[in-house]
Amino acid sequence: MHLQPTPQQLQIRDAARAFAAEVLAPNAARFERDERVPDDVFVQLGQRGLMAVAVSESLGGSGAGTVAYSLAMTEIARGCASTAVTMAVTNMVGEVIAHFGDDAQKTHWCPKLAAGELGAFALSEAEAGSDPGGMRTTATLEGDEWVITGTKQWISHGDLASVLVVWARTDGPGSRGLSCFLVPKGAPGLGIAKHEDKMGLRASHTVALSLDQVRVPESALLGPRGAGFRIAMMALDGGRIGIASQALGIATCAYDAAVAHLRATPADQGEQFRLADMATRIEASRSLALRAASMKERGEPFSREASIAKAFATEGAWATCNTAVEIVGDDALTLGHPAERALRDVRVTMIYEGTSEVQRVVVSRLELR
Ligand SMILES: Cc1cc2nc3c(=O)[nH]c(=O)nc-3n(C[C@H](O)[C@H](O)[C@H](O)COP(=O)(O)OP(=O)(O)OC[C@H]3O[C@@H](n4cnc5c(N)ncnc54)[C@H](O)[C@@H]3O)c2cc1C
Repeated sequence: MHLQPTPQQLQIRDAARAFAAEVLAPNAARFERDERVPDDVFVQLGQRGLMAVAVSESLGGSGAGTVAYSLAMTEIARGCASTAVTMAVTNMVGEVIAHFGDDAQKTHWCPKLAAGELGAFALSEAEAGSDPGGMRTTATLEGDEWVITGTKQWISHGDLASVLVVWARTDGPGSRGLSCFLVPKGAPGLGIAKHEDKMGLRASHTVALSLDQVRVPESALLGPRGAGFRIAMMALDGGRIGIASQALGIATCAYDAAVAHLRATPADQGEQFRLADMATRIEASRSLALRAASMKERGEPFSREASIAKAFATEGAWATCNTAVEIVGDDALTLGHPAERALRDVRVTMIYEGTSEVQRVVVSRLELR
């Protein structure tokens, strides 16, 4: 398959590349120290059409599709992985609302997300990580309101988002009993139970959420009642392309550091070969991510390709970041060095939006069907 980006895709990629080089890369260490990416960064990403890349223009998005999104995500992650995860989740939430929302939900939330307000994805719980079927959060209909009670964990920017897509059990056990709700920031009963102190992505907040009888109108149900599992799986399939692209961007950041080091100091053949291996993994990951993205964009089944891309790109990126630290040597062990930060930031890409094991479960199931 030949993947030559269109002029619009290249324009989105170049806008992301310029923003990453001018604004993100020079400030990524400071963002990490401050444990916060400034809100204005997301407004600026919104102005460049990067917060709702695949959402239609009629809803305020760029309407540029998933290939453009993958290209942009790679560039943003190359500059700052914490900014990239926030962009990734918000793009995913925008797409979910655009796909499953009714007109009121779509016209209310999509333009806001496109402009740089954040959207959070509240699926995971202590007993429901890889398997959402173990979910304990419940939603019951009382009159014309849903009452949601439970605890979510590891929710990216759950404390900062204007809207949270919250999964809850409405109809009995198993994955068929799940539904999905739009909960606005500040809803009474919605609290932050914990801020995680992570090894990487330290400028991106990750929180546990408590939902204590959170009341939302009946109209806050997103998609059909009982469709929560299907919505989650569809969102995660697309999200995996984003995380493959994020990992590719983080690996490229580490690779850049290794290249700069080897240009400044004579490389032995072992180092040259390791650099070649890094370049090979990066290019293979790019091809896999863009292949999955173009299949999604054409409306073809892409679960298998998204899982293959995610497992390969994230594991390859982990290896690349590790090799970059070895090549750069002592300097790369100093806190805030791009290669050091990349190594810490990249690890979680093998975990969220489905662990590497889960990607293998998906691929092998589809292969044997
Ligand atoms: C920084 C960060 C940000 C996150 N952001 C979000 C977010 O915004 N929204 C959200 O909803 N969640 C988020 N998560 C949660 C993330 O998606 C889960 O951590 C992930 O799905 C794994 O779930 P778990 O941690 O409960 O592990 P488990 O599901 O308990 O898995 C534990 C181990 O068992 C393995 N395993 C599980 N099932 C199988 C199987 N069937 N076959 C083989 N091996 C298996 C796993 O691969 C893993 O190694 C985030 C996590 C992190 C670390």
